Amino acid sequence: MTKTVFTNARLADGMSYDIGVDNGRIVSIDPAGLKAALEPTVDLAGELLVPGFVEGHIHLDTSFYGDTWIPHRPCTNGFDVHERVAFQAQNMAVAAPMDRRARDQLDLCIGNGTLHMRSHVMVDGSVGLKSLETILAVRDDYKNLIDIQIVAFPQSGILKSLGTPALLDEAITLGADLVGGLDPASFDRDVNGHLDVVFGVAEKHGVDIDIHLHDAGSMGAFTIEEICARTVVLGMQGHVAISHAYGLGDLQQDAARKIAATIAKSGVSIMTNAPGNHSFPPVALLRQEGVTVFSGNDNIRDSWWPYGDGDMLHRAEIIGYRSGFYTDEELKAAFEIVTSESAKALRIEEYGIYVGAKADFVTLAAGNIPEAVVSFPRGRKVFKAGKLVAEGNQVIR
Ligand SMILES: [Zn+2]
Repeated sequence: MTKTVFTNARLADGMSYDIGVDNGRIVSIDPAGLKAALEPTVDLAGELLVPGFVEGHIHLDTSFYGDTWIPHRPCTNGFDVHERVAFQAQNMAVAAPMDRRARDQLDLCIGNGTLHMRSHVMVDGSVGLKSLETILAVRDDYKNLIDIQIVAFPQSGILKSLGTPALLDEAITLGADLVGGLDPASFDRDVNGHLDVVFGVAEKHGVDIDIHLHDAGSMGAFTIEEICARTVVLGMQGHVAISHAYGLGDLQQDAARKIAATIAKSGVSIMTNAPGNHSFPPVALLRQEGVTVFSGNDNIRDSWWPYGDGDMLHRAEIIGYRSGFYTDEELKAAFEIVTSESAKALRIEEYGIYVGAKADFVTLAAGNIPEAVVSFPRGRKVFKAGKLVAEGNQVIR
């Protein structure tokens, strides 16, 4: 691709710049109008230019987005992961083909400016490797639009679901990028047995880990400490994430601060989507202690909840709203959680707006980052490797 100059781009410092892009990378950033561009230009008309959003936790295989509306079915006696998994299996049996639903969901996310994603995909005794094969094919088809990491996710447990340890191993060979886990204590009722498999697969293949942990209170905290300890022993700092970690939101301030220090020291990152009726991690406290906090939409129109719009900027607003973030600094923190901090957790390289970074960016009709977080404006232009891939929420192929 020949060089293109994106003129009149407002950056986070409020100033306007002309940004040169060559071969999918940012090659120059100059004050607007300083140099007469000899190359083709794209006038961004003073809109805010930010890096493409990072969707750090989503489920491409189990969403009904684009399918017919399926009403939410509440658990019979309070939130129960086992029961939700059973409802999901029933819903999946009558849902539209998985690849169509995954494509609809990807179009939704890309249209909103997401250019990097981590999707958990079910790999267990109930579905084998079928879902993974489908999502791998979809990923390949979308490779010029979005970078997708896939987590082999044992939704039905590891020890409780026949053949799952071997399936997780095969999943990585097949093309999954990370190995996942699910509530080692409450689901498999064997923290060590569960983590032996997860860390064993990770060590064997040299892949990262992202574990779903819904367990509340001290049981959740205990599991987090076990995950942190193993991470340090194996030298996997920066390569392990815990998704949800609801239990952190149940702890008293002192206990939360103590475990936050342990999490920070072990380089484990924490994913939260700040869900409606659950305790969720104390985002500001974790960040103060040096923990990488990142985010994702998690479920969009699925068997777990009906919410989600595929917009990470709206997700930043939800995190800020639930965390009581009001000041500009706090709103900027919410923004970092869906951009630079998520990029760090996912180990995405050359991410951001600087010379040498990949030219993956989004325009926003907002004067600055705090305003963008509270208004999550529409009408965005989305560029992948300097090429327009979505405008007005429509993907351009
Ligand atoms: Zn999830």
